[in-house]
Amino acid sequence: MKIVMLGPPGAGKGTQAEKLSRKLNVPHLSAGDLLREVVVKETSLGKEARSYMEKGELVPDSIIMQIIEEKIESLKDGFILDGFPRNINQAKALDRYLEDRGEKLDLVINLEVDKDTVIKRLTGRLVCQECGKVYHVENIPPRMICQDCGNRLVQRADDNEETINNRLKVYFKHTHPLIEYYQKKGLLRSISGEGTPQEVFERIINLI
Ligand code: AMP
Repeated sequence: MKIVMLGPPGAGKGTQAEKLSRKLNVPHLSAGDLLREVVVKETSLGKEARSYMEKGELVPDSIIMQIIEEKIESLKDGFILDGFPRNINQAKALDRYLEDRGEKLDLVINLEVDKDTVIKRLTGRLVCQECGKVYHVENIPPRMICQDCGNRLVQRADDNEETINNRLKVYFKHTHPLIEYYQKKGLLRSISGEGTPQEVFERIINLI
């Protein structure tokens, strides 16, 4: 199964991709997590990506393509992609990459949320600095310690209001056109991303 999760920042792509990954037993690939990994490791790609990410801009396609293709290469039973593709150029590159291997995407799930929800979710988001599990300030575990791996929760550097606003602008300019792109291919299914993670997940399960 090859699935792409679409939606603005804060739509719940990562949370839903993770749930779906466990349900379908298909690996979840988060472009943002892969980039944060190379930034922390300070690889040459990571050093280049860092300044774009801090501003909420897209990192250059050449960087993200290199990272994603290397990962997909090792996956035999498909993937759930979250945060990639993020513009038409990346979507076309993914199509070409799959076509060359006689493969194609099965489904694109588009999560729809309004701007107030995005701001509320992202400004209150806390993530485990080790495993990346996502929490919200309204629901913090004891001592700000991740319930899965026991490490500290932190706020992401790009989860401040100024950068969030820029990420939203970048989303509408570069990523939103993918809705039409995948609609024309007959792959797009849109659902509401409002409500609790479980409510959204049930909508996704009904869909597939
Ligand atoms: P995310 O974790 O999906 O919110 O992504 C965090 C940041 O990583 C984004 O604001 C971008 O700077 C960068 N990023 C993630 N995915 C991509 C992508 N497909 N293309 C370019 N930049 C990306």
